[in-house]
Amino acid sequence: MLGRIFKRTMPDLRKNELITSYEAVRKDVELYAREAGKKGVVLLPVSKLKPASDVQILYDHGVRSFGENYVQELIHKASILPQDIKWHFIGGLQTNKCKDLAKVPNLCYVETIDSLKKAVKLNEARAKFQPDANKIKCNLQINTSGESQKSGLSTEKEILEAVEFFLSPSATHVELAGLMTIGSWDISHSEAEENQEFAELVKWKGILDAKFNLALKLSMGMSSDFKQAINQGSSQVRIGTDIFGARPSRTEATV
Ligand SMILES: *Cc1c(COP(=O)(O)O)cnc(C)c1O
Repeated sequence: MLGRIFKRTMPDLRKNELITSYEAVRKDVELYAREAGKKGVVLLPVSKLKPASDVQILYDHGVRSFGENYVQELIHKASILPQDIKWHFIGGLQTNKCKDLAKVPNLCYVETIDSLKKAVKLNEARAKFQPDANKIKCNLQINTSGESQKSGLSTEKEILEAVEFFLSPSATHVELAGLMTIGSWDISHSEAEENQEFAELVKWKGILDAKFNLALKLSMGMSSDFKQAINQGSSQVRIGTDIFGARPSRTEATV
């Protein structure tokens, strides 16, 4: 008896909690976008280290795009969850993992392209293993902090080379969608009016849009700084904690 009540009520509690926080964030995003005079700011829920049942709850609520950070976790979730989910890979990308990622048919986005080499690898692997699937949309990750230990393209030469690859005929299975940055904790928690890293990403968009006649999207803003990001022109915010709650450690997480 108790067992039955437990089984029935626990998932309902989680469902209510998750939908409530998702809706609250969605309304905030809408409000901040309206205040910034911007239309169509996308909310990407980041489900890393959270169970597939959480993703399923939001899927049943109508959400179709989710962000993941770890290749194995994304592959596993993609294999057990509905096939029309559009997965975004937003984690640190390793060259030797490009192949595994490219094999996921409903991988929609890779947001963390931080070298020409990885863009080339991803394209090759998609062409080889999923030639008929969608082209993978890619964001170039820009190191906007100027700190050398942070990932992301940092020199103009690297950035231009990567863009030129995407615009060349060789890029048959990947396409350039935009730019992304992970703001550093210090800056997102400072009192400054403007986040300098977001401003840096906006600056690069200006340069590249003008030089190559593009309309790049900007993926910037997380739970702690998405209001500011939207204010400064973000097209997509990536929200984990504010929707799903605090994450377990990587060793404790269960899919
Ligand atoms: C984890 C993660 C997020 C979500 O972060 P929260 O602070 O939990 O909203 C967004 N972007 C990237 C790249 C991440 O790794």
